Amino acid sequence: MTKRVYNFSPGPSMLPLVVLEAAQRDLVALPDAGMSILEISHRSKWFDQILQETEANLRQLLQIPNNYHVLFLQGGATTQFSMLAMNLLRGKNQPADYIVTGTWGTKAVKEAQREGEVRVIWNGKADNYNRVPQNSELNVDSQAAYIHFTSNETIQGVEFPTEPETGNIPLVCDMSSDFLSRPININRYGLIYAGAQKNAGPAGATVVIIRDDLMQAAPNDLHTMLDYRIHAAEKSCYNTPPVFSIYLIGLVTRWLLNDIGGLEAMATLNREKANLLYDAIDQSNGFYKGHARPESRSMMNVTFTLPNADLEKQLIKEAEARGLYELKGHRSVGGLRASIYNAMPRDGLVALRDFMLEFQARQA
Ligand code: PMP
Repeated sequence: MTKRVYNFSPGPSMLPLVVLEAAQRDLVALPDAGMSILEISHRSKWFDQILQETEANLRQLLQIPNNYHVLFLQGGATTQFSMLAMNLLRGKNQPADYIVTGTWGTKAVKEAQREGEVRVIWNGKADNYNRVPQNSELNVDSQAAYIHFTSNETIQGVEFPTEPETGNIPLVCDMSSDFLSRPININRYGLIYAGAQKNAGPAGATVVIIRDDLMQAAPNDLHTMLDYRIHAAEKSCYNTPPVFSIYLIGLVTRWLLNDIGGLEAMATLNREKANLLYDAIDQSNGFYKGHARPESRSMMNVTFTLPNADLEKQLIKEAEARGLYELKGHRSVGGLRASIYNAMPRDGLVALRDFMLEFQARQA
């Protein structure tokens, strides 16, 4: 096998090796079907089984009750910025409250504004998005249709440690970059959406989990493909769904259940992994500086800077020579970003941590 590196890309990103191997093994012919997953009809019994198992696994992992639908859509999380507002805000005499903690939340606001009244009830821009708000800072409108937040801002590396406290108003969450990384309190949510290409699988599918009563209250003038009710009624097969992506999500959820042991175990592992880097940052006497404030640090995207841009470039270059790839940060934050989703093994973090310590020692 070609040598694999540790890939710290923000997404698409690493997938569990056992998942890739299973997909490779069965790529030419799925065991029962005698046809590739790339060749089977989305109306076939084989795909139906895959779809059913994938949904059941997600329901088990996230403890999703029956009054929620699990949908596999296309168009990425970006389409959801618009679609959720069309379904939940259009034509309503209520505002939607948005908590903005970074780049993706800002984009979500922009699209929702086309559909109704949007109140940005908290915005971390003045501090260059280095933290999430305390509950006491949130001035929620008791009439709000929903409250939108981004549980993990992938670019800034800030993550809500737990759901914001907002009373009975349903939460709507862009969970793209920490979906399946930890347990959630599903009953707090009206809608969750996540592009698959970080923790759940390859690019192509967007998972949407929506509470039935909210879904049913959508306006009647929606385009077919932008109406959650259609996708729910047709079990995500109104048109051709992203078959391969859903199949891979199925394998990833199997891995989470059988090899990892569920989301509690995954969360423990993720915390351990992230803390290897955060400890190195905190103990570096200011050589490495974390972007996020400690209480808002992401367990998925570790963002940090070095004393100057030349050192950052040098570290990135030397890291590659050691098989540590894709560490360059996003230009809006600068510095470095190590994306360490579920599939990044602990060994990858140890290798990066050891290299960072050694690199620092050499500069002294
Ligand atoms: N939200 C978040 C938190 C993201 O990280 C991303 C992609 N990096 C998006 C939305 C956009 O996702 P997509 O490319 O699937 O539209």
